[in-house]
Amino acid sequence: MTSVRRRLLVSLISAFLISIAGAMTYVYFQTQHELKEIFENSMRETAELFGNANFTDGRPYPPAAAMKDPNEQLVLQIWDAGGNLLHSVPETAPIPLNRKLRDGASEANGRWWQTYTVREGNGGFIQISRPSAMAKDVVEENILRALLPFLALFFILCCGAWFLIGKNLAPLNALSAEIAGRRIGHIEPIIMDRVPAEIQPIIHALNDLLLRLDRALEAQRRFTADAAHELRTPLTALQLQIDVLKKAKSEQDKADAAKTLENGIDRAARLVHQMLAASRSAAPSAPDASMACNLSDIVRDILSGFSVAAEKENIKIASAIQGGVYVLADNERLHSMAANIIDNALKYTPAGGNVSVTLSKDALTAKLDVTDTGPGIPPEMREKVFERFYRLPGTGKTGSGLGLAIVKDIAAQTGARMEVSDNPGGKGVKFSVTLPAIN
Ligand code: ATP
Ligand code: MG
Repeated sequence: MTSVRRRLLVSLISAFLISIAGAMTYVYFQTQHELKEIFENSMRETAELFGNANFTDGRPYPPAAAMKDPNEQLVLQIWDAGGNLLHSVPETAPIPLNRKLRDGASEANGRWWQTYTVREGNGGFIQISRPSAMAKDVVEENILRALLPFLALFFILCCGAWFLIGKNLAPLNALSAEIAGRRIGHIEPIIMDRVPAEIQPIIHALNDLLLRLDRALEAQRRFTADAAHELRTPLTALQLQIDVLKKAKSEQDKADAAKTLENGIDRAARLVHQMLAASRSAAPSAPDASMACNLSDIVRDILSGFSVAAEKENIKIASAIQGGVYVLADNERLHSMAANIIDNALKYTPAGGNVSVTLSKDALTAKLDVTDTGPGIPPEMREKVFERFYRLPGTGKTGSGLGLAIVKDIAAQTGARMEVSDNPGGKGVKFSVTLPAIN
C-alpha cells in the first residue's frame, strides 16, 4: 500500500536534498576559490611591499613585529642576488628560496609552504611564505561555517514539509475515521466541510454509491416483505387443502382433493421459482464481449418448450425467427425475459386463440415481437403490470405477478426497450423488446 504522506515526504526531502547539496557544492568551491585568492593577494601584497624596500642596499631589515598578525604565521626571508640568505623572520625559518618567482610551494622539514617570491631592483630576493596546512585549515573552517546554515535550512524544510503534509492530509484521516466509525445500515451521505477540492470527487462518488446502495437495500427490503406476504397465501391454501384431503371420505373426494393440492403445490413452486428469478434478475450484471448470445436459438428453444401446452389449449403459434440474431447479454437472463413474455401470451390467450412471435434484426437492433389474441391490457395499466406482484383482476389465471417485473429488470440491464401496444390485428396485446444487436 502506498502512503501519500510517505510519497510526498520522500519526494520533497529528495528535492530539498538535491537543491541544498547543489547550493552547498557551489558555496564550497566559491568560498574555497575566494579564500585562496585572499591568501594569495595578502602574500603578494606583503611580498611586493617588502620588495620595494631594497633591504639588500643596506636598509635596516624589518623587525619581527613588521609581520603584523602572528596568527597568519607569515615568514619573511631575504636573499642577496647570489642566493645567500641574509635575513629571516622568524629567524629559524628553513624554507628554501623559490627562484621561479611569484606563486610557489616549497617543502621544508616535512612541511609544505606556500610561497610568493619577488626580486628587488638590485637582484636580491624577497620571499613571503605561509604553511600550506594552515591555509587549508582556515579555508576548511570558513567553508564549514558557510555551509552550516544550509544544514539548518535542510532540517527546517524537512520539519516544515512533515508538518504541512500532515496538516493538509488531515481531512483524509477525518474522512476515513468518519467512514470507519459508521454502523452497518448507516448509509446517509457523507457531509464534510473544508474538504480539499481533490477529495470532493471521491466523496461525491462515495455518496453516489451510498445512495445506490440505499436504494438497492430498500428494494431488497420491499422485495423480502412482499415475498413473505405473497408466500403466506399459497402456504395457507396448501394447509387447507391438506385438511380437506385428510377429511375426504370417498375415493372421488380424495382424488379431487389430491388434484387441488397438486395444483396448489405447482402454484407455490412457480411462485418460488419466479421469486428466485426476480431476485437474480435484480442483481446487476455487466455484459462483456464473451456474453454474445444467440437470441434466435433462445426464442426457438422457448417455443419448442411451450408447443405441447399450446397444442393442449388449441392455441396456434405463428413464428418468424430470423437466424443468427446476436445480442450482448447473459444467456440465462435473456431466456428468462423472452420466456416470461411468451408465457404470458400463451397463458392469457383463451383456447383457440393465436400467438405470433417474430424475431428480426437490422444493422443496430434486434427486435422481438410477441402478439396474442387474449383480453389485452388497458393502456393505463401497461406500466402498472411491470410492478412486482401486480396482477390485473379477473384474468382467471394463476400467477405470481413477478414475470413482467423480471422482464423489466432484465431489460434495464441489457439496454433493452420495452413497448406494450394493442394487437394491430384486433383484440389482444403486443409486447415488443428492442435490444442493441451485435453483428
Ligand atoms: P408470473 O409471475 O407467474 O408470470 P403473472 O403472469 O401473473 O405471474 P406477470 O407476468 O408479471 O405476472 O404479469 C402481470 C399481469 O399482467 C398479469 O397478471 C396479467 O394480468 C397481465 N398480463 C401480462 N401479460 C399479459 C397478456 N399477454 N395479456 C393480458 N394480460 C397480461
Ligand atoms: Mg407472467
